[in-house]
Amino acid sequence: IKDFQVENEPVLGYMPGSVERRELEGALEKHSSRVAEVPIMIGDKEYRTDLVQHQVMPHKHTHKIAKFYWATHELVQKAIDVAIAARPAWERVPLSEKFDIWLKAADLMAGKYRQDLNATTMLGQSKTVIQAEIDAAAELIDFIRFNALYAKEGTKWQPRSPEPNSTVNKLRLRGLEGFVAAVSPFNFTAIGGNLAFTPAMMGNVVLWKPSDTAILSNYTVYQIMREAGVPGEAVSFIPTDGPVFGDTITKSPHLAAINFTGSVPTFQRLWNQMGQNLNGYRSFPRLVGECGGKNYHLVHPSADITSVINGTLRSAFEYCGQKCSACSRAYIPESLWPQVKDGLVSIQKTLKVGDPCEFDSFMGAVIDKKAFDRISGYVNHAKSSPNLTILAGGKCDESVGYFVEPTIVETKDPKDRIMTEEIFGPVLSIYVYPDSQVDQMISLANYSTPYALTGAIFGQDQEWLHKATEALKDSAGNFYINDKSTGSVVAQQPFGGARMSGTNDKAGGLQYALKWTSPQAVKQTM
Ligand code: GLU
Repeated sequence: IKDFQVENEPVLGYMPGSVERRELEGALEKHSSRVAEVPIMIGDKEYRTDLVQHQVMPHKHTHKIAKFYWATHELVQKAIDVAIAARPAWERVPLSEKFDIWLKAADLMAGKYRQDLNATTMLGQSKTVIQAEIDAAAELIDFIRFNALYAKEGTKWQPRSPEPNSTVNKLRLRGLEGFVAAVSPFNFTAIGGNLAFTPAMMGNVVLWKPSDTAILSNYTVYQIMREAGVPGEAVSFIPTDGPVFGDTITKSPHLAAINFTGSVPTFQRLWNQMGQNLNGYRSFPRLVGECGGKNYHLVHPSADITSVINGTLRSAFEYCGQKCSACSRAYIPESLWPQVKDGLVSIQKTLKVGDPCEFDSFMGAVIDKKAFDRISGYVNHAKSSPNLTILAGGKCDESVGYFVEPTIVETKDPKDRIMTEEIFGPVLSIYVYPDSQVDQMISLANYSTPYALTGAIFGQDQEWLHKATEALKDSAGNFYINDKSTGSVVAQQPFGGARMSGTNDKAGGLQYALKWTSPQAVKQTM
């Protein structure tokens, strides 16, 4: 295998007058002035059904940007058949050739198609330019490049052969025997690319079900991977209704794995369906899932106030709080509260909510009507509950787009449901505690929710930082000290959590690529 090294893709600045800004404006114009046609892709063939769907811009929901079709049960089954038939040939393609395809795809994403990826993500998922750039450009490219690097490094390890003249031991990394189903969310274009294409790189055949609300950007990723050389038989692109997909794949004897990012109830439903079909499988299917969180910022009285204010606002409100890692509950000591409150509220007033394609917008709209209703439900709860006070924001307006203001709520009850349930929207809840009770806050941060995805502690008291880090060991898969809880970078902070947040298989780390292999130990006597 030829050697190669990779670096994290630089994040571009989009300053007025820059080349990337001009190119992005062209791509925004192109993708907003037409309704793209997105077929179901199985093998090399396009399919269309009567189940016609549209993707709209969340910030202007009368504006359609893509027309697509839901696959029927029969088409999902067809994709399984095509994948199983194609598996031996795809698995035989040497890893070094696959690396060439992946590295070429990453270069296409970094160059020729970067602004198509950004524009389709901004228009379809209502991301601002910087939020699109760190996702659909930088993170996606990093996933593609670093997973190739990790596959190369991971396959280098070989078992010992203490007497090489008489016995040679080898470990052969096969693909899984069956197909992998990748089910991806709307909130990161990069996650779709990772879920579908990392198993494919390791020799697996994949059925990719993208999210309806990220169709156009995800199809763009799919087309780039195909242009780089991934055969259509290795990865099919199957927009469809969740339960139709779930029912069909879990009933197939060939199901080898599910690679999932989405909600807890959907992941649990897939586990249940698998349990019911367990006697029908040829292998025990592998389940990898990332399912959200209720992430905390815990502030000690010794903390630097400016980093608390900026970090908390960014974590809670960037991309409307629709990152699994977003801070949605904060514990602030009484002694710092007047200054922290002032900072949060005064900066909140300056955050522009609007069309994310305008370069001075801080937030676009939330993803769809269902999200709008769920989030405004929590805002209404804050308005009506005697324990809760809205300090800033609180306006929800769906007349043009699904807009929710960045909303800051103070609660007198640290166990109110606004402090314990995942909201997945721009609502930050704060409990102000007496300084003497800081240790009780460690316990609340750790145990008042079923999740363990991300968490951050802020303070300058080294002894306390050390103590809190130990006590909070199981509270988060991604733990930050004096930094916000969002913004993990591939290969720097591998991402994922445990408890109800998922199986913690760490996207963007070495183990992830190897998860998609079934190793065979071979002993040969000479
Ligand atoms: N990795 C992202 C972050 O650290 C979040 C990914 C997600 O929302 O699933 O902000």
